[in-house]
Amino acid sequence: VLLQVHGHSSGSDAQSRASLRGDLQDFLGGEAPLHQLEDLTKVNPVTLETVLRCLQVRYMADIFYTNAGCTLVALNPFKPIPELYTPELMQEYHVAPQPQTLKPHIFTVGEQTYRNVKSLIEPVNQSIVVSGESGAGKTWTSRCLMKFYAVVAASPTSWESHRISERIEQRILNSNPVMEAFGNACTLRNNNSSRFGKFIQLQLNRAQQMTGAAVQTYLLEKTRVTCQASSERNFHIFYQICKGATKDERLQWHLPEDATFSWLPNSQRTLEEDCFEVTREAMLHLGIDTPTQNNIFKVLAGLLHLGNIQFATSEDEAQPCQLMNDAKFSVRTSAWLLQLPEDMLVKTLQIRTIRAGRQQQVFQKPCSQAECDTRRDCLAKVVYAQLFDWLVSVINSSIYVDCDSWTTFIGLLDVYGFESFPDNSLEQLCINYANEKLQQHFVSQYLKAQQEEYAVEGLEWSFVKYQDNQTCLDLIEGSPISICSLINEECRLNRPSSAAQLQTRIESALAGRPCLGPNKLSREPSFVVVHFAGPVRYHTAGLVEKNKDPVPPELTGLLQQSQDPLLMMLFPDNPKEKTQEEPSGQSRAPALTVMSKFKASLEQLLQVLHSTTPHYIRCIKPNSQGQPQTFLQEEVLNQLEACGLVETIHISAAGFPIRVSHQSFVERYELLRRLRPHTSSGLHGLYPSKGPFEQPLCAKEATLPAVLRDILYTLPASIGTVATPG
Ligand code: ADP
Ligand code: MG
Repeated sequence: VLLQVHGHSSGSDAQSRASLRGDLQDFLGGEAPLHQLEDLTKVNPVTLETVLRCLQVRYMADIFYTNAGCTLVALNPFKPIPELYTPELMQEYHVAPQPQTLKPHIFTVGEQTYRNVKSLIEPVNQSIVVSGESGAGKTWTSRCLMKFYAVVAASPTSWESHRISERIEQRILNSNPVMEAFGNACTLRNNNSSRFGKFIQLQLNRAQQMTGAAVQTYLLEKTRVTCQASSERNFHIFYQICKGATKDERLQWHLPEDATFSWLPNSQRTLEEDCFEVTREAMLHLGIDTPTQNNIFKVLAGLLHLGNIQFATSEDEAQPCQLMNDAKFSVRTSAWLLQLPEDMLVKTLQIRTIRAGRQQQVFQKPCSQAECDTRRDCLAKVVYAQLFDWLVSVINSSIYVDCDSWTTFIGLLDVYGFESFPDNSLEQLCINYANEKLQQHFVSQYLKAQQEEYAVEGLEWSFVKYQDNQTCLDLIEGSPISICSLINEECRLNRPSSAAQLQTRIESALAGRPCLGPNKLSREPSFVVVHFAGPVRYHTAGLVEKNKDPVPPELTGLLQQSQDPLLMMLFPDNPKEKTQEEPSGQSRAPALTVMSKFKASLEQLLQVLHSTTPHYIRCIKPNSQGQPQTFLQEEVLNQLEACGLVETIHISAAGFPIRVSHQSFVERYELLRRLRPHTSSGLHGLYPSKGPFEQPLCAKEATLPAVLRDILYTLPASIGTVATPG
């Protein structure tokens, strides 16, 4: 059953002749001034230029949210607008009989989603996918939505099964500053850039109160711990400790005010995000007590000192690289803070253990200076990644109450947007692959499914061309041969292969694939993928190694020797594993690669998303400098193109955005079928005058309109007519 929404046609000839510079009213068919146009489906004709112009006029008038059919476009104001996010305004959207008639806002999406949870529109679980470039406002938006639900879905404090003293909504909100302190960093694009993807499931009970939540994170950029692009910074938490520690703590953690750390660039910059107190307070609310916190910070200080360990080049290859003079202090301090045996720390960084031959004989080989550095970095990354995962699990155990208390959920997805830099590597490949998947989800959910359904139902419809990115996904992840499989293959074979060889392998095995772009103009070995958002060149140097992400067993062994309580928990010395002898001559099953792990978690996420009714918020960055009142057309245009907004608007404008299964529809509106046509009610078109189920309802003339009003009240405002099934 399809409910027809009054669509706006794509525009008459006369209207489409209107030029961008012409009278703006031409676009609107003389309806409303552009800044008052709250739905881009009403821009006429719908083109990139008109959409762009409408968003610009609205932005300059300080209007940041605009509907685009089934999507909400959110422009980043780049200035605080507290009145836009008050609890009072949240309530206003919450209690409105029809929130979609209020000004476009993320709260409309929030409220609609919240209402859908208990509506008959299936599936009941909902998700909100927030997308956009780095710095476009995704994290801000999802944080605001969490606050919205904390207000509208708050459980009464007196609620009986509420065992915990701290209110659950508050704890869920407290997960934000903690995860941001450990997972966000200042980058060129965003001072508070999330360096991980996040999906949070807000769980509701039968009374639609938030009873808990569960967080899933994706692909933390752990390389940032040891390596930061110029003008960028490490994760906020390191700066917070260095700036916010008390005198006493400075002594304990060996962080004198004048200390310099090579892994802490740009620490002279002070950011709003540097507030240590906020993080500590939030951790406390999540049940991470002060001694545990101090343990965490001590380990992090240990990592900073580890980063100052430098090795000198060795003249003699058979001799291990010696420590640089001033590195001795760093070794001692780091070993002390991490509670590791000092000599073992140095030896593990300097000397590599190799197992070779059929008997897996053990050899020891001194590492080159570069290899020592790699091992040092690896040690820090392993500790940090493990710590981050542990924190997420602690947060989850603090916000996840129990599975009996909730029946439905609203999922909020905040993942890194499409990325294209001069130098792209495995991280960008994974991120863009994820965006490609999400775009496909969107396309299949809205565009493909709708068009196919219209075709099946025989509805009149002019088909909109959309970009189906299946061919691109086939190139990246398809079987049997794809970029992913080829890179994984290199990891599995464990053969020395140069960047140039990888390029050749990809080019020859995938020759002729439509989304493998022409690879010219590059001196360095690389390949080009034509993504839906544009072509991206990926450099092959280091790709295989990154994908393997190897952790030498000696490093894990070293960490298992730590006497530090936190590290002992993060790296348990599992005696079972040690005694289990591997059958000689057989190599261990290859560890999962970064790409295959990412692919698996992405597939899981998509499965969850597919089981929900999705809602989309597209965040747009009006300029890359983060300036308020600045709308750079070229930059916005690229983003509009990248997310295929115009196609979305075309389909939404002419389409049927509300689809209800036949069964649900009959259950809900059966009454209408039984009503006798009543021409004077003015609602003649709403119900069939003849039909197999028609049973005249004994209603007095006077009460009939009231009954109808009651039913119609639950219909979306824009519904005009009902197309009867078959
Ligand atoms: P993303 O997660 O997409 O990378 P963020 O959500 O971190 O981007 O937003 C980047 C910055 O933009 C924020 O730190 C904030 O300063 C600003 N910002 C984003 N959305 C808003 C908003 N609605 N109101 C005010 N400032 C905003
Ligand atoms: Mg973010």
